[in-house]
Amino acid sequence: MTSTRVLVLNSGSSSLKYQLLDMSDGARLAVGLVERIGEENSRLKHEPLTGGGELREEFGPIADHDAALKAVAAELSKDKLGLDSPELAAIGHRVVHGGQTFTQPTVIDDEVLAEIERLIPVAPLHNPANLTGIRTAQALRPDLPQVAVFDTAFHTTMPESAARYAIDVKTADEHRIRRYGFHGTSHAYVSRKTAELLGKDPSEVNVIVLHLGNGASASAVRGGVCVDTSMGLTPLEGLVMGTRSGDLDPAVIFHLMRVGGMSADEIDNLLNKKSGLIGLCGDNDMREIRRRVDEGDQEAQLAFDVYIHRLKKYIGAYSAVLGRVDAIAFTAGVGENAAPVREAAVAGLEELGLAVDGELNSVRSDEPRLVSPEYARVAVAVVPTDEELEIATQTYALVRTPHA
Ligand code: ADP
Repeated sequence: MTSTRVLVLNSGSSSLKYQLLDMSDGARLAVGLVERIGEENSRLKHEPLTGGGELREEFGPIADHDAALKAVAAELSKDKLGLDSPELAAIGHRVVHGGQTFTQPTVIDDEVLAEIERLIPVAPLHNPANLTGIRTAQALRPDLPQVAVFDTAFHTTMPESAARYAIDVKTADEHRIRRYGFHGTSHAYVSRKTAELLGKDPSEVNVIVLHLGNGASASAVRGGVCVDTSMGLTPLEGLVMGTRSGDLDPAVIFHLMRVGGMSADEIDNLLNKKSGLIGLCGDNDMREIRRRVDEGDQEAQLAFDVYIHRLKKYIGAYSAVLGRVDAIAFTAGVGENAAPVREAAVAGLEELGLAVDGELNSVRSDEPRLVSPEYARVAVAVVPTDEELEIATQTYALVRTPHA
């Protein structure tokens, strides 16, 4: 029997998201998640997408990731999709930080695990959780190839001029301080899909990808290769996000320490969890913000305006970085769904060749599509992202091809 299934795991500090895909046709067989791992009221939601099974939800204590994955395996078995099946070819893990080491998806061995561990100082929140997920999956299926797909990998092609902060080189190197970028799996997938939408090979097109979810980042992709991205050492840099500030004068931090008496941890929490849209207006959901804007709410209007202003600055900056732009692609929760954000982001940028067609922009669809008028020099596209499919595709390509 040919093994064509790939299980994709995205392990957070207290969550485990999963999808089981069949790579013979890209079909999703099951999706689900375990939340609040380690708490009394953990939640497991499992949805089989084949064989007529129904969505199941369970509450109750799930002590750790090991127990979570075993519970997921039990659910999959009920749908005859068990992880002991010979049809399972590999497990693909989303790993947030691959530093400068990992430029490609990588089959996991002890050395790879050790390097992901060495990168913990630059990804203290994410890499430990990703490691736990990998070790748990290895324990369950020690015989199966496990592949790490890194959020940073797509950005490792950035030239030094974009990746370096202008600080003392020795200090930067000693602490591995440089711009790594994140959401790489999404930027890779969406830039490729955008080229497809234009009927061209990725090597022929220059694309600005705007990944606007709760976290948000922009990237400049020249001929399929990332040349700049807005997130940096951590996902805090760049665009205004749901709860993160994005760019700010680093002196704000010293000011908050010296004048505001805040600790490093308090400032970290402020800038990552209580800033961005939620800091500006108390809401981080763009649907709610638009509803408030439509009712004339001034705080929500300010939050929307700051969000759009920053987005425009990045579109302008990346137009300059690329020199020639063929397309701008909007993706993720806000980018795929919020027509007013797309409209406002390109408003007034006709000199850059940008415009949206009101009617096309207001159509709702799950398909990649163009929303710019025919006359526009630069295509404006809406391209739904699919990080799990991309992780599964990369994982499968690696385990299917015999490697030395
Ligand atoms: P993440 O993966 O970063 O958690 P998503 O890509 O799922 O985020 O995006 C979530 C965000 O998308 C929500 O916080 C909300 O602001 C926005 N969003 C989702 N649906 C809509 C919609 N219909 N209109 C406007 N914004 C939306």
